[in-house]
Amino acid sequence: MLRYHTIPVTPFQQNCSLVWCDETMEAAVIDPGGDLDVVLAEAQRLGLALKQILLTHAHIDHAGGTATLAERLRLPIVGPHPGDRFWIDGLPQQSAMFGFPPAGPFTPTRWLADGDTVQVGRSTLNVRHCPGHTPGHVVFHSPEAKRAFVGDVLFAGSIGRTDFPQGNHEQLIDSIRQRLWPMGDDTVFIPGHGPESTFGRERRSNPFVRDGA
Ligand SMILES: [Zn+2]
Ligand SMILES: [Zn+2]
Repeated sequence: MLRYHTIPVTPFQQNCSLVWCDETMEAAVIDPGGDLDVVLAEAQRLGLALKQILLTHAHIDHAGGTATLAERLRLPIVGPHPGDRFWIDGLPQQSAMFGFPPAGPFTPTRWLADGDTVQVGRSTLNVRHCPGHTPGHVVFHSPEAKRAFVGDVLFAGSIGRTDFPQGNHEQLIDSIRQRLWPMGDDTVFIPGHGPESTFGRERRSNPFVRDGA
C-alpha cells in the first residue's frame, strides 16, 4: 500500500510529500521545493529509501531543490510534462525574483505524459496531464490509496492561479472536471498549498468548480 507524509517547505509553505510503498519502504519525494535538510531528516526518521524525485510542475516553490537533491543523492528526476520546459529553464530567474536560494536548471531523467504510470516500490501512481496553472502540470494518483497529489491545480476551496505566462483558466477548469473528478468523490487530494480535501467536497462547495457553477 502507498503511504505518504507531507512537509510544508519554503516561505510559500509548499506541500512537499514523501510517498512510499510500505512493503519495500522504497520512496519518492514529490515537489522538493526547498528545505532539503528537513525533508531528508523526515525520510530518515521514517526509514525510507529515497529512489526518485517526482515533479508536478516547475514553479520555484515546487522544483527549487530538485537539482541539488538529484545531485546529492544521485536520484532520477521524473516529470513534469515537457510543456514546463521553459519554467525549468527559468528556475535561476525564479529563485532570484522570489529570494530563494540559487536553484539550478536540470533536465528530467524522464518527462511524463497523460496516461503514464510511475512505480514506487510495489505501488503504482497514475499520471494525468492537467494544464492550466502551467502548461506541463501533472498530477499523481494512487487508486489503491484513494489519494491524488495535485500540485497547484486545485486547493481546498480554490483553484490554481492562471495569470502566469501560458496559464489558461478554461484549460484549468477542464483539467479539474475531466481529469480529477473521475478519480472519485471519496478521493482525498493533497494540494500544493494548504489543507487536504476530497473531490466530492470540492464538487459541492468550491465556488470555482462546483457542480452546476
Ligand atoms: Zn505553481
Ligand atoms: Zn505552488
